[in-house]
Amino acid sequence: RQKKMVKKVKELMSEREKIRNIGIVAHIDHGKTTLTDNLLAGAGMISEDLAGEQLFMDFDEEEQERGITIDAANVSMVHDFDNDNYLINLIDTPGHVDFGGDVTRAMRAVDGAVVVVDAVEGSMPQTETVLRQAIKENVKPVLFINKVDRLINELELSPQEMQQKFISVIEEVNEKVTGMIEDEEKKKEWKVSVNDGSVAFGSALYNWALSFPHMEETGISFKEIIDHCRNEEHLELHKKSPLHQIVLNMVIRHLPNPLTAQEYRIPTIWDGDLERDVGEQMVACDPDGETAFMVTDISVDPHAGEVATGRLFSGTLKEGMELEINGVPGKNRIQQVGIFMGPDRVDVNKVPAGNIVAVTGLKEAIAGSTASSTEMTPFESIKHISEPVVTVAVEAKNMNDLPKLIEVLRQVSKEDPTVEVEINEETGEHLISGMGELHLEVVTHRIERDKGVPIQTSEPIVVYRETVTGNAGPVEARSPNGHNRFYIEVEPLPDQAVQEIKEGNATMDMPETKRREVLKEAGMSKKNAKNVKSLHNSNAFVDRTKGVQYLRDTIELVLEAFEDAMDSGPLAGEPCRGVMIKLDDVKLHEDAVHRGPAQVIPAVRKAIHSTIEDAKPTLLEPMQEVYVHTPQETMGSASREIQSRRGRIENMGQEGDLSVIEGKAPVAEMFGFAGDIRSATEGRAMWSTEPADFEEVPQNIQTELIKEIRERKGLKVETPKSD
Ligand code: GDP
Repeated sequence: RQKKMVKKVKELMSEREKIRNIGIVAHIDHGKTTLTDNLLAGAGMISEDLAGEQLFMDFDEEEQERGITIDAANVSMVHDFDNDNYLINLIDTPGHVDFGGDVTRAMRAVDGAVVVVDAVEGSMPQTETVLRQAIKENVKPVLFINKVDRLINELELSPQEMQQKFISVIEEVNEKVTGMIEDEEKKKEWKVSVNDGSVAFGSALYNWALSFPHMEETGISFKEIIDHCRNEEHLELHKKSPLHQIVLNMVIRHLPNPLTAQEYRIPTIWDGDLERDVGEQMVACDPDGETAFMVTDISVDPHAGEVATGRLFSGTLKEGMELEINGVPGKNRIQQVGIFMGPDRVDVNKVPAGNIVAVTGLKEAIAGSTASSTEMTPFESIKHISEPVVTVAVEAKNMNDLPKLIEVLRQVSKEDPTVEVEINEETGEHLISGMGELHLEVVTHRIERDKGVPIQTSEPIVVYRETVTGNAGPVEARSPNGHNRFYIEVEPLPDQAVQEIKEGNATMDMPETKRREVLKEAGMSKKNAKNVKSLHNSNAFVDRTKGVQYLRDTIELVLEAFEDAMDSGPLAGEPCRGVMIKLDDVKLHEDAVHRGPAQVIPAVRKAIHSTIEDAKPTLLEPMQEVYVHTPQETMGSASREIQSRRGRIENMGQEGDLSVIEGKAPVAEMFGFAGDIRSATEGRAMWSTEPADFEEVPQNIQTELIKEIRERKGLKVETPKSD
């Protein structure tokens, strides 16, 4: 059967109108895995018995243990619609926000998303997050309202009450969708609606669904469905109104094919010239054009080695082809070209534009790379909504494993670019930073299990940020030999500018005029925006000098010093954020021997740190939104659990018979929350967290905290004063 399927898939791969590249996104537990499995089973990809056991997409043992989906895996399937075959390339996305980076990357590869919402719970915080990620990448949504069987059999709602429920879910989703779109025309087009069939509802678990077009075509009524469901006649229901038919028909009707989608998506994800060469070919999804492939995921296959998965926007990927990574030629010869059929990669020799493809041989690629047959502007860097805020130190349990651990850590950071790894070959103590406690648990677990290196892991540590709240300077710094002088000022970067840099809307890769425009719009002065020479971790370096002799030869060293200074701030050696460093003037020795790295770097770094010390520096800490659903009786103890962690309650409400608490607390105080909230509510609370922005550490604990961090890092406990 698989052979037949591969043959069909191969045929359909080049029929661009008949392809849909989609992802399924949901708040955790809303039924994404169940839906995916039943769609695959319905399309003949796996047996229906297996589907019930959720063995397909969730094949990772760890995911099964935790009951969450971690890795983005892909699968292609064939669906029959209106007497025609269609190819649906489905990318699996992780269901937990700690892995938000993966969701964002998966969204780059697809053109449409099925948003799954639990009918009982309604739209949840992560529903909003995944919607935002989709809309940002110009990915069109359709809505599947799941667990309708529970409305009927558990909540025993009347048809009118059910209708009310559906309306409220649809309104919630549409409010978010339209809120995130600016274009009026697109707002209308992308709103989901029951009448046009861009909303379906049903039960992923019992394998049935309903949509308005299906009711019209078959004459099946809502009442019939309710009656069958009430009588537990699920098989009957599945036959009359099969889940995969309804949902995949909705996908084919309402989500765009690559030819249509690339025309409007390429301008949002690529900065190059759309009217020429590869730009024109990508907009046209041209299989005969230059090859332009965006890598969205790297995984390691025990047999084939590193597998790069991504979206092919133009050209045809073939075995033996040589590609450049981000415009740099190197050793990147494609060995195998394949598609995923569930956990198996199937070799197909070549794949044309418009598809999701898996290849081996791209040695230098990481998730996010552009691989192309010609020199081209790389795709826009993927906008990760969250940044690493928690770190653990790891050491090999067995000293002999040290070289292997270093290799594995490099691999881990290639596979997941939201993980930052700092390798210390001398001490053997390496630091891994990620987006949350759970994220790091998964990473360290992988190192031990998949890569077979037993490790010792420290308690998680929060990564703080340092910023300035005032202006200072100019500070004069002299190089150790006294022959060079640097005059440096500092001021806070406007919040909006920090946001734009963080989201990748202002980068050093983009044309200077475009970057200037974005930064000016975000509140930087025209002069500063124009003279930005480096953007590093949401900090900016501005060169305001005029006609300084020899600066052109020296500026690289100055920027290196700036990056150093930003990676490790003066308060506690934590990374800086939202700092704008301005170079006012420079005096350089005429002889290059006297203005080398050993002279320039320490002087500039010192000058930068000194101005920061004068500009009312402060420590920032990462925050987390906390959402708790709990029965009324335990609401008080649940709220106290948040408040006792320096948290605040921002909203309280009622949803059905559950109380809903929305709060915010520092990440530092949230370690161990899982166990504590369980005991505080006798295990009856459901909760989730989302990364939130940084906030100033309260002044009354800041001095103590800085001292603690400095001690931990072996820095002098006294913070230096500028001199
Ligand atoms: P995911 O976290 O979004 O992948 O959610 P899962 O597919 O793992 O589903 C979470 C839980 O909800 C599992 O226990 C499922 O059996 C259950 N579930 C999923 N869909 C339905 C449904 O339509 N009706 C009911 N009653 N339960 C469902």
